[in-house]
Amino acid sequence: FVHQLADEAVSIPALLASPLRAAAPSTLPLPRRLYGESRVNALGVDPVVERERAPLLARLAVPMPAAPTDDSAASAALAMDALHRAQPGWNAVPLAERCAVLRRAADLMERQMTELVALLAQEGRKTFGDGVAEVREAIDFCRYYAEQAEARLAPQALPGPTGEKNELCLHGRGVFVCISPWNFPLAIFAGQVVAALVAGNTVAAKPAEQTPRSARRCVELLIEAGLPADAIRLVCGPGETVGAALVAHPRCAGVCFTGSTQVAKIIQRQLAMGDGPIVPLIAETGGLNAMIVDSSALPEQVVDAVVQSAFRSAGQRCSALRLLLVHEGVADKVSEMIAGAMAELVCGDPADAARGWSVDVGPVIDAEAHAGLSAQVARLEREARLVARTAMDARFAATHIAPVAFELKSVGEMKQEIFGPVLHIVRWTGPVDAVIDQVNALGYGLTLGIHTRIDQRAERIAERARVGNVYVNRNMIGAVVGVQPFGGEGLSGTGPKAGGPHYLYRFCGEQTVTVNT
Ligand code: GLU
Repeated sequence: FVHQLADEAVSIPALLASPLRAAAPSTLPLPRRLYGESRVNALGVDPVVERERAPLLARLAVPMPAAPTDDSAASAALAMDALHRAQPGWNAVPLAERCAVLRRAADLMERQMTELVALLAQEGRKTFGDGVAEVREAIDFCRYYAEQAEARLAPQALPGPTGEKNELCLHGRGVFVCISPWNFPLAIFAGQVVAALVAGNTVAAKPAEQTPRSARRCVELLIEAGLPADAIRLVCGPGETVGAALVAHPRCAGVCFTGSTQVAKIIQRQLAMGDGPIVPLIAETGGLNAMIVDSSALPEQVVDAVVQSAFRSAGQRCSALRLLLVHEGVADKVSEMIAGAMAELVCGDPADAARGWSVDVGPVIDAEAHAGLSAQVARLEREARLVARTAMDARFAATHIAPVAFELKSVGEMKQEIFGPVLHIVRWTGPVDAVIDQVNALGYGLTLGIHTRIDQRAERIAERARVGNVYVNRNMIGAVVGVQPFGGEGLSGTGPKAGGPHYLYRFCGEQTVTVNT
């Protein structure tokens, strides 16, 4: 064993000086095969869902309301003009009141938990566990940004020479365009919007075409919480027309975008081409996220983390694990255990009142995503070795992608982010630095998982890896607001981190006032 670790380039004296860390108990329910039979799904059902079972099922029996109608490019432009006129008024509302709106919105969401979880299941195709986590995240964003705004956005007196008063004041930049994705139709939508609002901006909120109802419900709750109705406009429709009209509008003072790297670059180009002011872009995009497992790692912990990270939310998270880099010495064992855990996952329709309860992996978001993923899986079937695939009822063949794992020969075979439950496994031997360099060379930099019981190795990898979020000996999804500020670098985004202490500053203009007294 010591020789195997030495092969991974940790020197033997260093190893002896740093004894293996004891296994930390996992806080997450393990897949059933490892954990024994239990009442939780393989990916865990939240106790809140358990308690709310009857009202939740009653809600699911009611069809969704009609979606808001799409805007045209012309109506999007009118919305920008109206928001521009309303911005000075909202910016003049005292900071304490702006924060109070966010807190009241959080309280309302908390009270509407069941309704929102049902809507996320129906519209966003989310499992109940994912729905609860998402509503909680939206609530956290509201409360956290309220707290941060109070702590950071008030005018700040600065020291200066006698006879002079200096003050740094922050204010809203103007109209912020917030463009959000379908994979977190409530949490990311709310996070972007309330950050922009609390800083004193008015907001043109453009949700993904697949999930406008969740966005509309969020806007309704914000207005019920006291947000002036003219401070926000929900603008629906395709990104190519409506989104482009918002971004290109001369009143656009900032863009906050979460989505693909490709679209972030289109927005960046559009902003650069405009005749108006220089407009900042906050972009949070995709990742080719890796997990590095060495031969000292605990296999049970690795398997739990892999299944959660790669397959929860049907892999439709930008933080999800795509590339498992496992040391040759433990690769067979780990692959076999992953296959065992994958066999326990249940694919199904979360919005099915009769069976949705036990679903771990729901459908992918729409037919277009399904077609794209099916083509990518078919390519991998030709080019790579199939390690395991979760069995799935034929009824779901047109809507779901069954969790699947393939082994590749090298990291270089990774082509692009596959936004679904598709795991790539690559074996490694030799110095771990070379492995990190290969991951860095992919150009993305969002999340990275590390499994090792050697602290110095975890530190070394974290230090060398060019990523925004590093997770050691646990899963690598589900960043908690205010606890694990989330966001990447390189092809993964511009920063700053959502749910972190520096986020709100990027939504603000700054003014230094110097008075000769
Ligand atoms: N913040 C989420 C997480 O940590 C991912 C957000 C996304 O997929 O855009 O899992």
